Amino acid sequence: MNHLLYSVEELTEIFNARAFVRDRGSVIRTLLTDSRKLNDPAKGLFFALKSRRDGHSFISEVYKQGVRNFVISDPDFSILQFKDANFFLVQDTLMALQSLSASHRSRYDYPVIGITGSNGKTIVKEWLYQLLSPENNIIRSPKSFNSQIGVPVSVWEMNEEYDFAIFEAGISKSGEMENLAKIIRPTIGILTNIGEAHQIGFESNEEKISEKLKLFELADLFIYSGKYLHEFQGTLPGENKFTWSFYEKADLEIIKVESLDNKFQVLLAQYLGREIQAIIPFKDQASLENAVICWATMLALGYEPGEASIRLEKLIPIGMRLELKNGINNCSVIDDSYSLDLSSLAIALDFLKQQNQHPRRTLILSDIPGVDSELVYEKVRHLLVNKSVDRLIAVGEKIIKYVTDFPCEVELFKSTEDLLSQFSSLKFQNETVLLKGARTFGFEDISQLLTQKVHETVLEINLNALEHNLNYYKSEIGTGTKIMAMVKAFSYGSGSFEIANLLEFNKVDYLAVAYADEGVALRKAGSSLPIMVMSPDARAFDTIIKHELEPEIYSVRVLNEFEEVLKLKNLSNYPVHIKLDTGMHRLGFMEEELDQLLSLLNGNKLMHVQSVFSHLVASEDPEHDDFTSQQISLFIKLSDKIREGLGYSFIRHLANSSGISRWPDARFEMVRLGIGLYGIDSAFGNKSPLQTVTSLKTSISQIKKIPAGDTVGYSREGKMPDGGTIATVKIGYADGYNRGLGNGKGKMLVRGNIVPTIGKICMDMCMIDITGINAEEGDEVVVFNDVIRVEDIAKQLNTIPYEVLTGISQRVKRIYYYE
Ligand SMILES: *Cc1c(COP(=O)(O)O)cnc(C)c1O
Repeated sequence: MNHLLYSVEELTEIFNARAFVRDRGSVIRTLLTDSRKLNDPAKGLFFALKSRRDGHSFISEVYKQGVRNFVISDPDFSILQFKDANFFLVQDTLMALQSLSASHRSRYDYPVIGITGSNGKTIVKEWLYQLLSPENNIIRSPKSFNSQIGVPVSVWEMNEEYDFAIFEAGISKSGEMENLAKIIRPTIGILTNIGEAHQIGFESNEEKISEKLKLFELADLFIYSGKYLHEFQGTLPGENKFTWSFYEKADLEIIKVESLDNKFQVLLAQYLGREIQAIIPFKDQASLENAVICWATMLALGYEPGEASIRLEKLIPIGMRLELKNGINNCSVIDDSYSLDLSSLAIALDFLKQQNQHPRRTLILSDIPGVDSELVYEKVRHLLVNKSVDRLIAVGEKIIKYVTDFPCEVELFKSTEDLLSQFSSLKFQNETVLLKGARTFGFEDISQLLTQKVHETVLEINLNALEHNLNYYKSEIGTGTKIMAMVKAFSYGSGSFEIANLLEFNKVDYLAVAYADEGVALRKAGSSLPIMVMSPDARAFDTIIKHELEPEIYSVRVLNEFEEVLKLKNLSNYPVHIKLDTGMHRLGFMEEELDQLLSLLNGNKLMHVQSVFSHLVASEDPEHDDFTSQQISLFIKLSDKIREGLGYSFIRHLANSSGISRWPDARFEMVRLGIGLYGIDSAFGNKSPLQTVTSLKTSISQIKKIPAGDTVGYSREGKMPDGGTIATVKIGYADGYNRGLGNGKGKMLVRGNIVPTIGKICMDMCMIDITGINAEEGDEVVVFNDVIRVEDIAKQLNTIPYEVLTGISQRVKRIYYYE
């Protein structure tokens, strides 16, 4: 809030830069690393980072939005046109960002906790925040900001209003931790755990461990469990150490874990020669370990065991992700009420801004806890203007004092109860609503009124994973090649505008759908990208033109029909895409039809050939590599001929997902990325760099004991000669759970256990055999995710993942997550 201001001289010195200064009086308090997410431009410093895209290419766009200070590394970058802006020329912009943040860190000498490990970093951070907040004013990294960019941006937020800091650090390869250690410089170190799996980027497990431990080299106190360090030979960091363990000697040795009821567990431990206990409100294994880490930390920091226990019992589970759901009256609702501070508000507002599906954006915001200064709400005002919020609904005694004159529609409520009692007067309709409230405001109640009830089977879509997959392909193909994202068939079952908005935000070049209707739906939801329609029907040409969609022209008939409509409407130069048949024999012009095609296109002013493309029939399969090569050569030959005939050039595209990964020669000017976006690319086999995007989840309606010899389900096929326990779950073939998965062929996950189906799959339900597993009615059941993979289900059914994904019926609600 009261962030220290840095002058041009100070920055020049810290960066050790050549500075081109046009405005000596400029001061900096905000770091900007992403041109799409700008705050506080007047006092912002933009770093032209060279990640996937070169940040230098965004400078002019960022300048237009009011930023006047830039860190660049390209000595040839022309700064002439930006007359009133300051430029700092450095060797490496990422290193400059990191050294600025490290220098900022060195101004503060309050305790700093640094957390690393394979899992649990964000949860441990958030829980420690809850546990230590009563007597500390804590600054922490927002969400899971733990990368080479996320860490410096988080640490930069330190200021003298705080007296305690918690930051997390994550690394993906050797050599990265040293940088992060210099920035965070933790005085207290926490290692959460070390995953078993071999990680790409590290030679061995030992290398991975010693790399992670580098974070703690200067720490006074190191908190860890010996069980994760067996493979480590070197000296452990930390002047003082505090260990925790289950059933092994340690400073905090857990000797018993007991279930209290279906929510709580009691932990009994040995500590300083006596027995102590704590109650935690969680039952799963991961939460248990994370809670023990927090317990150990509190004891290591000198808290009385009694006090620690009281606080642990009140821990609140955290949903760390933003949830996008369908709301009432054609609204979309983004639910993010687990924490409220300025940085998480800024992140949530960026996500709100990405949503183009409704004309209005509304923010429901509570008091921002902890700090009571006009400055905070002044910053909120800046944010709202930058992020195009149309309506602010403010809830709380404090906030309503400061926001009355904000430049948007403002509605004020003293409390959540007040808002709830006047809910209908707020007339939510066709808008995107972001809920951002501090815990104590109980915004869950507003969320309940705003969202539609969900049938308990949901398809969860992880938008971060989708973004990761897109970025993976982007980095594979480099910057010279465009990407057409295939969003046909409801984005392979994952959604329409929800996916398109994210793709547009991430700057793909084109979208493609199968039918005009799908394109119209995207336009109506605000998509402004060019959209290709692959099966344009003559009856849909009017619609296509009305919504500026671009048809695939695959035959002389289609060409003539489209031409007729263009003539009638008096249009010219309409963009079209010519499909060639190079061996698929589905749609497209054959080689022998090219002369006729060219005679129709030559001198044709009605249409403009935007692209020429064809489709590979077996790009994923080594067995057909010869044929794929032939297709590529034929495509080159035919598209060359068209270019000569037309006298102008166009985009050429041939490769689908596995074509991109396996056939670099087939990338041309654009690629068509489909199933890889959704996390599946059979070219990779078991070592996929892609992340799982979709998880299908349902729940248990009833659990029963079956006597020996009874059967389960239709036709008595589910035989239980020895009896057992079954659970009936809320998913059937009408939801897209194929009947071929009955009688044990399909598997599901219940509390981490893989269990088989039993008996036939019914229309809306099916039964699973949970004999020997401790489960309860209402428990979540995973149908597929990253453990039970869509690929495995497809194999079981003798089909392909495409069919499984697109077969999930529309009555299964989609929920989108974004961190
Ligand atoms: C569906 C489709 C793609 C995408 O294929 P993936 O294997 O999903 O990447 C590409 N081109 C055309 C013509 C398609 O129909």
